[in-house]
Amino acid sequence: MNTQNSKKTDAAVKRIVIAGGGTAGWIAAAALSKKLGDLLEITLVESDAIGTVGVGEATIPPLRTFHHLLGIDEQEFMRATGATAKLGIAFENWGREGERYIHSFGKTGTSAWMCDFHHFWLRGREMGFDSDIGEFCLEHQAAEAGRFATSSKSNINFAYHLDATRYAAFLREISEEHGVTRVEGLIQDVRQDAESGDILALILDDGREIEGDLFIDCSGFRSLLAGKALGSEFEDWSHWLPCDRAVPLQTSATEPAMPYTRSIAEKAGWRWRIPLQTRVGNGLVYCSDYLSDDDASALLLDRVDGKPMTEPRVIRFATGRRKQTWKNNCVALGLASGFIEPLESTSIHLIVTGVVRLMQLFPFNGAEPALRDEYNKQTQRELEDIRDFIVLHYHVNQRHGDPFWDHCRQMAIPDSLAQRIALFRERAHAYQNNDELFRVDSWVQVMLGQGLKPQRHHPVTQMMTEQQMQQLQTGLRSQVARAVQTLPPHHEFIQQYCAEA
Ligand code: FAD
Repeated sequence: MNTQNSKKTDAAVKRIVIAGGGTAGWIAAAALSKKLGDLLEITLVESDAIGTVGVGEATIPPLRTFHHLLGIDEQEFMRATGATAKLGIAFENWGREGERYIHSFGKTGTSAWMCDFHHFWLRGREMGFDSDIGEFCLEHQAAEAGRFATSSKSNINFAYHLDATRYAAFLREISEEHGVTRVEGLIQDVRQDAESGDILALILDDGREIEGDLFIDCSGFRSLLAGKALGSEFEDWSHWLPCDRAVPLQTSATEPAMPYTRSIAEKAGWRWRIPLQTRVGNGLVYCSDYLSDDDASALLLDRVDGKPMTEPRVIRFATGRRKQTWKNNCVALGLASGFIEPLESTSIHLIVTGVVRLMQLFPFNGAEPALRDEYNKQTQRELEDIRDFIVLHYHVNQRHGDPFWDHCRQMAIPDSLAQRIALFRERAHAYQNNDELFRVDSWVQVMLGQGLKPQRHHPVTQMMTEQQMQQLQTGLRSQVARAVQTLPPHHEFIQQYCAEA
């Protein structure tokens, strides 16, 4: 007798129904089928007529760990999705018009147990050493130089720029290989248990019913199950993150792809530029109180280089989250669970952590309240840290006289962020909460980059003489510079790496 099959019949929750097949739906399907497929029957319902949001092209490094978990071959994945490497984000005009900084994925300098490297860097500046903090970070310097290679030797921390539509198709293939059944159809309603409110089945517009034990809502901004059917309350964060619209636009490539995303502050928001292998993803995120849709499209068309390959189309969104991402027997993932704008490319990451968390707390014996509560608690904490990090970019700006940016500078911010800013301003102290996504280096790069100047730094740095400081800085800088020189140009590497065998 096959024990895997016997487990299959034991579980109370074994029929998983995923509503929606965008990036969220197919990430959930691929992960669950690959890792728990022998225990579950997975069905995914999606509608070609509705389609997907079609954006979501910049990622962050933990996606590589997820791919590794799923046994995804990197070259195959990059070929299939037209992917390039991403070493960080260049923020242009964010602190002040004309200024620029990079939030890279790398480690800056060397670690000391009492305080982080930036304290020594600040001390160095006091001593008259005129260095940029990015000079001490391999990923930063490689991004600036347009160089990249992935190998065990370079140990470079990177993520991807990818084509969202091709990524969903790639994950669909993996999912179907592992037994996921795809149903094409339009979800019209749900059938619920009269007493508990649990979802029993999705009802399609042609009368078909898709029954399940656990439902995963990946229906995008419509949030058909979590929001509409179960009424999981939406907590609005637009008073902290006022942008509420985006216009994406794809253009042809005009130059070899650089290994970083560009984020350029504009009149009432910001513009992204994401270089893929054969085209560029562009878009403008803006606040409709300060810019009309027509003006937003015109501004974007005016700014992009390359030939437009799509028409600009307006996407409306509200920033915030569902208070309960897991409610009854339904877990919401992706846009159905809430949305924080794409400034630091965190949404795909949140889908991945959501599904990994679900697998860790999987309700094999039924959706127990303790599992649900723990899931929701962890999800909330994770999102609040990310929210604070994004608000930081907007709030700490010196774009005086620009009404949208004046508003962002003057708006009230979450207490948790106000405390972080005060600590950095007064003592140059930055920290990472337990399990927090963004590390000290990220906070420091953005706080310094946005123009936040610490008044003091850790006194232990005074124990270094000028000569010692010089030795430290010269040593670290040349180590980084040497490592960058060993890397090939990014576009050449990608071309070779993704060439058919
Ligand atoms: P969708 O892609 O909208 O998929 C919803 C699915 O549900 C579709 O398959 C649809 O057909 C189906 N569906 C809906 N209603 C029905 C129905 N009635 N019947 C049947 N099927 C239905 N994230 C990043 O990580 N990096 C980025 O750079 C990034 N940029 C972004 C830029 C913008 C402007 C926006 C808005 C988002 C961005 N995101 C980014 C977020 C990212 O796009 C999403 O997290 C990701 O695409 C997941 O979307 P989704 O699958 O939840 O929703």
